[in-house]
Amino acid sequence: MVNSQFSIINSQLNKMRTISLIILHCSATRINARYTAAQCRFDHMHHRGWKDIGYHYYVEQDGSIHRGRPEAEVGAHCKHHNQHSIGICYEGGLDAQGHAADTRTPAQKEALLELLTDLHRRFPMALILGHRDLSPDLNGNGLIEPNEYLKQCPCFDANQEYRF
Ligand SMILES: [Zn+2]
Repeated sequence: MVNSQFSIINSQLNKMRTISLIILHCSATRINARYTAAQCRFDHMHHRGWKDIGYHYYVEQDGSIHRGRPEAEVGAHCKHHNQHSIGICYEGGLDAQGHAADTRTPAQKEALLELLTDLHRRFPMALILGHRDLSPDLNGNGLIEPNEYLKQCPCFDANQEYRF
């Protein structure tokens, strides 16, 4: 009996969610500043009161990929879309004046491509989008246009760049 109970618990723990979206974010950090994965986790836990960092992956300026929440757990990164998505954040997204800009370093681009290639292989049906692409379609023309973006995040066209 004990064994079968354990195997039930175990299979629930290992149950992977259905992933229909892979959503990219920026940390909205100026290019001349730092905001590490550890800082982000600390802020999400101690300032927002979450149990862990909201993202599943965090890519720092130097291209290092940091694991956040386990993929099987729902993240906290995109209102209305957390249930079936994986959230990835890169450190940056603002120029030195604080304006939205694609600040990804070559190392970050390489790391993001590597990470997304792996995720696409494991979740081939999932769409890869930027946070801003999930803004409401205000004029109902089926496209999320720049004037409809709730925010600029992730400050580049993720859907265009990551088509596998
Ligand atoms: Zn975002």
